[in-house]
Amino acid sequence: MSYIKVTENVYAITDGSTVGNVCAFELPTQLLFVDSGMNPKIVESFRSDLEKQTGKKTTTLIITHKHADHVFGNQAFKDCRIISHRDTKQRMIEEKERWTEERLNELKKNAVDSSVYDGFEIIIPKETFETKLTIEDFDIKILVRNTGGHTTGSSFVYYPKAKAIACGDNFFEGVFPWAGDETADPEAWIAAIKEYLALDVEFVIPGHGKVCSKVELQKWLDYLEKAVILIRKMNTQGFSEKDIIKKLNELEYYPPKNEQHKELSLKRWYQVITGRS
Ligand SMILES: [Zn+2]
Repeated sequence: MSYIKVTENVYAITDGSTVGNVCAFELPTQLLFVDSGMNPKIVESFRSDLEKQTGKKTTTLIITHKHADHVFGNQAFKDCRIISHRDTKQRMIEEKERWTEERLNELKKNAVDSSVYDGFEIIIPKETFETKLTIEDFDIKILVRNTGGHTTGSSFVYYPKAKAIACGDNFFEGVFPWAGDETADPEAWIAAIKEYLALDVEFVIPGHGKVCSKVELQKWLDYLEKAVILIRKMNTQGFSEKDIIKKLNELEYYPPKNEQHKELSLKRWYQVITGRS
């Protein structure tokens, strides 16, 4: 694991070692983490290294959304406030039931180092918010807001003083995102990216990939808007789902890691925009 200093008071693991990115905001009297990734061991040492380096204690973990690659390190923050949107918590409770012994064993088997899941526990957020949350520490403010997009519960965490935003999976850097969640909503997603772009931000921390600038966010927004317009237009003209998805695949954007995931994502967008499910 190697974590990077993004800017003054902002640190992150973006090398894929935790699958989903994990970031940390240093405030005047405490450390606040955003997402816990999928490797409890690495996240534990990220936390303890940073506590040693800054001489500050971690008080809070904010979860951007419910997916396993962003919450399976939660056990490293058991002693902290763990906060998410209400829907994220609700879906994590439901999902926990589905993580049978068998499925967990499969996860361990597929891990590069299965010992990272020794004593593994799924930890549900303790506190929730509805639309937004502000955390204050002396003159410093951290803003958390729910937008939806990648999932209904998807929320961003903004550190105005550092000009940094943690987007969760509403933004994947340099790759086609996973957008096939059963609650993914491309229109809410577009509104969310517009909201990020309107903020005073220099450092964009994606859910996956490297820290970048608003230029990459704008690229994602342009693509997503084109995709939604295309679906709407072709649907009005009476084209079939198959034809529409074929045309969507011709729009230029970064390729996915997994073609099937892209297919499922485009199908989800089609369903939402046309109201057919
Ligand atoms: Zn996700």
